[in-house]
Amino acid sequence: MYTSETIVAPATPPGEGGVCIVRLSGPQAPLLLDKVFFGRTSVRDMTTHRLYHGRLQNRRSQLVDSVLAVVMRAPHSYTGEDVVEVHCHGSSQILRNVLDLFLDAGARMAEPGEFTRRAFLNGRLDLSQAEAVAEVIRARSERAGRAALSQLDGHLSRQIYEFTRRLKEPLALLEAHIDFPDDDVGSLDLGDWLRPLEALGREMRALADSFDMGRVLREGVSLLILGRPNVGKSSLMNALLGESRAIVTEVAGTTRDTLEESIVVAGFPLRLVDAAGVRDTADPVEREGVRRAREKAESADLVLLVVDGSQPLAEEDFLAMGLCRPGSTLVVVNKSDLPLRLDPAPLAPFFARVEVSTRTGQGLEQLRSSIVELLTGGHAGSGEEDLVVTDRRHRDALVRTVEALDRLAVAVGGQAPLECLSLELRDALDALGQITGETTPDEILDQIFSRFCIGK
Ligand code: GDP
Repeated sequence: MYTSETIVAPATPPGEGGVCIVRLSGPQAPLLLDKVFFGRTSVRDMTTHRLYHGRLQNRRSQLVDSVLAVVMRAPHSYTGEDVVEVHCHGSSQILRNVLDLFLDAGARMAEPGEFTRRAFLNGRLDLSQAEAVAEVIRARSERAGRAALSQLDGHLSRQIYEFTRRLKEPLALLEAHIDFPDDDVGSLDLGDWLRPLEALGREMRALADSFDMGRVLREGVSLLILGRPNVGKSSLMNALLGESRAIVTEVAGTTRDTLEESIVVAGFPLRLVDAAGVRDTADPVEREGVRRAREKAESADLVLLVVDGSQPLAEEDFLAMGLCRPGSTLVVVNKSDLPLRLDPAPLAPFFARVEVSTRTGQGLEQLRSSIVELLTGGHAGSGEEDLVVTDRRHRDALVRTVEALDRLAVAVGGQAPLECLSLELRDALDALGQITGETTPDEILDQIFSRFCIGK
């Protein structure tokens, strides 16, 4: 069914623009173009992967648009099928007319992700690469984009195929002993046989653990700025944002509501949350703000606890400190342009302390690197050479593989029959194959591709 129908969809986002691209894929794609395209070169004579100018006309010979068209012949196309792309003028009316033209000629509207699904079914991409396509489009920071591109490039797939190979070899050896017990295949020392598999399990576990970092890249980290009124929270948020979005004010306790903004620090997307100035107060509006700050402090990945370095710590500072988990809290000693009058000793338990002045900008770079250090545990690297798992589905598949290997080790220890060992090993292979799509059930494929946009 898949390869017999020719599908069509806009490949560019809706709205006005210089051009908009309509894409067709399927065996009829060049034929459908031929029905509606009139130019100096006929579609039959077009060289693959070359643009040709011409007019699109409807059945009544009315001009629909003046366009550039390209035919990309199978198998050297995105989907592996014959693909046609038409560059039209970027107007939604023209787009509708061009789509109608092709639908009228016999194409069907593509479902979300259908082009990429065909690419997967035709072996142009494996599943983890196809998923990376969606991530590349969606990436919200440079680092996230790089991780997705590296996955699209097959970095993760190559590692998974390598793991697969290292599972298949011992399986073949084992099954030789099962199938030909009486033949002279040599005796199998199960201890020796198991050792490389245990090492493999540890490597896979480490890759699965990179998901924490991957999640940071994908979803961003929530960052809360906390502190008593007037220490400079709004000023700090503005300084990090690089422009004034939160309202800065000289009246204590006016940052009542919480605001959310996104910033990118060293390629990491951070969701920045301004919080209420923490102080015990009878004012019900402010009390509500403090309650929310409390909640946010508990759920935030990272807290910047701001104190005013030009004053001794006040009771409200201690109240704010009480809301923070030391391991995920950076203390920002603000107003370093003024003489230091704060005793830093009570701040010692927190992850790190950075002196800044949001007024002069001093210390902000140091703050950014401390944020990165806290997020990566100092293992940031350049982010290019490291393979990270960014997709929960991949992480779960790796964990299932490792669990199967753990059961295998137990079975070996319990002197289980060789057939049982073979079953566990096959389970491990099956779980691993779901990452690249070799063993992924159809309903999971449906789920994955339905997350794509139309036209991809
Ligand atoms: P918030 O209530 O914690 O959000 O504090 P604001 O950001 O509104 O700042 C409170 C006051 O401190 C304002 O008058 C700011 O101009 C001042 N302030 C903020 N940062 C600095 C700084 O680095 N140095 C000095 N001298 N004053 C600052």
